[in-house]
This record gives sequence, C-alpha cells and structure tokens, in this order.
Amino acid sequence: MERKKNYFAGPSVMPVEVLEKLKEDMVDFKGQGLSMIEASHRGGMFEEMYDQCLALFRELLGISDEYDVYFLGGGATLQFTMIPMNFLRPGSVADYIRSGTWSNKAADDAEKLGKVNYYYDGKANNYSSLPDPKTVKPSENSSYLYLCSNETIGGIEWQDFPDTGSVPLIGDMSSDIFSRPIPVDSFSMIYGGVQKNLGPAGATFIIMKKSLLEKQNSNLTAYMDYKLHSKNKGLYNTPPVFSIWAVKLVLEWIKANGGTEGMLKRAIEKSSIIYDTIDNSSFFRSPVDAAYRSRMNIVFRLPNEELEAKFVEESKKEGMLGLKGHRSVGGLRASIYNALPVEDVVALAQFMKEFERKNG
Ligand code: PLP
Repeated sequence: MERKKNYFAGPSVMPVEVLEKLKEDMVDFKGQGLSMIEASHRGGMFEEMYDQCLALFRELLGISDEYDVYFLGGGATLQFTMIPMNFLRPGSVADYIRSGTWSNKAADDAEKLGKVNYYYDGKANNYSSLPDPKTVKPSENSSYLYLCSNETIGGIEWQDFPDTGSVPLIGDMSSDIFSRPIPVDSFSMIYGGVQKNLGPAGATFIIMKKSLLEKQNSNLTAYMDYKLHSKNKGLYNTPPVFSIWAVKLVLEWIKANGGTEGMLKRAIEKSSIIYDTIDNSSFFRSPVDAAYRSRMNIVFRLPNEELEAKFVEESKKEGMLGLKGHRSVGGLRASIYNALPVEDVVALAQFMKEFERKNG
C-alpha cells in the first residue's frame, strides 16, 4: 500500500511501525489469547502496559517525583473546565495569555467559572505573535498563569517559557509535546490531547505537580477532581485503553529515534525545509512573526484564495492530505508532526516550488 502524505493537524500521522505493531498484536496480545482492548483495566496485562507507558513518558521528558503523570479521557477540551474549577480560587484571578484559538477557548471557559485577567491578547496582531517570555509577569494574587505552548491553528509556538515565580504556570502542550525537550520544572501542570504527536485520539496526558493539588478548590464532583485522579493514576474510571496502548508504542518509537532531542532535530530539519521554501519565494507568505514560528504547524498564504483552493485540490491529486488551513482562519497549513517522514516534507517543498513555477 502506498501511504498518503498526511499533513492533517489532528488526528494526524502515526509512525507506520506503530500501526504495524498494533495490527500484529490486536487479536492476540503477545500470545496471551486476549486483545489489549479486551482486557480489564484493573491489574493484569493492561496495568502492566500502562505502568510501562507512564514510566517511559516520565523518562523521556525527565519528569521528577514531584509530579504525577497519568491519562484521562474527555479530550484536551475538558481541561479548559477542570483547570479553573480546581485552581481558580474564589476571590483571586487567573492570568490567561490569549494567543489564538486554543488558549482563547480555555480563557472563555475559565471566565464562566471565575475572574480572569488577560495578561496578553494577540487580537490586535491577528494572533500572529506572542509576548516576550522575559516580560511576562503574573498579576498580584494570581491563582495561575495559563498559556498554550503551540497554537495549532495559528501556527505560533513559544520558544522559551516565562518564569512566573511562585505563581503556578499551566500549559496546554497538545500539539508540540515530545517535539522537543521541555523545562517541566517551570510548570505546575502540563496537559494535552495525545492525537498529534502521541497516538490515536481518546486520551489526554496530565503532568501534575503534587504541590499544586494542595491549592485545589474543594467540593468538586468526582471526575472533576485532580486529586482523585492523581491518587488513582488516572484509573478512577475506565481509561481510554486503546489510545494509551498506542501511546506506549509511540513512546518506544520516540525513544528509538533519539528521544526528545532526536525529535527536536527532526522538527528543525523538517520545518526549515518548508520555511526556507516560503522565505525564498515572493509567491508564498508566512503570516506569523518569525520569532515564534511553529515547528509543528506551518501556516502559509498564497496571493489569493483562488490560488489557495487550487493548491489544495492539486496537492490532493499528489496524495497530499490536510493542507487546507483551519476553516476559522483560511489559508494553508502543513502539520508536520514527529511521525511525518522527512521525505514527505521534501515532497511538499518540491510541490510548492512546482506550483509556484506554474502559477506564480
Ligand atoms: N489544545 C490544542 C493546542 C489543540 O490543538 C486542540 C485540538 O486540536 C485542543 C486543545 C482540543 O483538543 P481535544 O479535541 O482533544 O479536546
């Protein structure tokens, strides 16, 4: 089978080796006469696999014992509600950095549950840039400061993170987790959906500093309560078993390919190929501040929307999928997550150059 070139933003490309392993073990997991997705999540083969998955997750990101790590269901979107419910203290304020669709959605949800301060709002520059992390200071009496490390739709990514001192820093890393080493210790909580760099949709990873739980609000219903999930390492209720199993295999793939340093090298190499193509052309244009360009989601424009539609149509004929920009912003977007082979990025750059030659 010839695989399509998959530039979708999520769910997105998986390492083909992982898909093969899932297929191999789907019916009979390692001769145990049972599929992983049929096994109970209490004890036995699932829990053994889950513990290995969590251990590898910690190892690859260098997460210390000060943090709990586990998976929940509900998508990253559920966290937009859970975070303020748990940590936005009554009488206090939470600082949000509005940098695009995903942080804005999180901020809008928080505003329904408490007082929110917009430390920064990128509206004026059409969410094409970010504040200098060195200048970011949380407001007095802040419960936490919230940011999204990579805006999947707008194509901007924090390169360094603010030092928020004693105020907890919380980050949504749905679309760039495991694409680079991260300073976990700068954060009190990091979370994200797994469906970009880590596996099939269904699970959300949570990295929670234990000391943040001491500041948690009371009177939470069971599923909304991070303390309960920490105590049960995410197994309070039935976890998204298939998604977690695949994540474990993707983590093994990441480890075999150089860990987060290896992923960073890949991301730099691949994103440079496309950004160089854009920068060396007067036909393609990047609408985002070069200092904060995403290495995962490359947003670009053509001189007009007709040409953009033509680009998408013609790319599909070449087996290239997912290059249309998000419907809310238009334009074009190539998502080039960890598992996308370098050859598919080279093929895209060649396609772009050829398209320019014919239409420029
Ligand atoms: N945060 C970011 C950065 C995303 O890219 C997405 C989805 O693409 C979400 C949150 C929402 O994730 P979910 O669909 O798992 O709720």
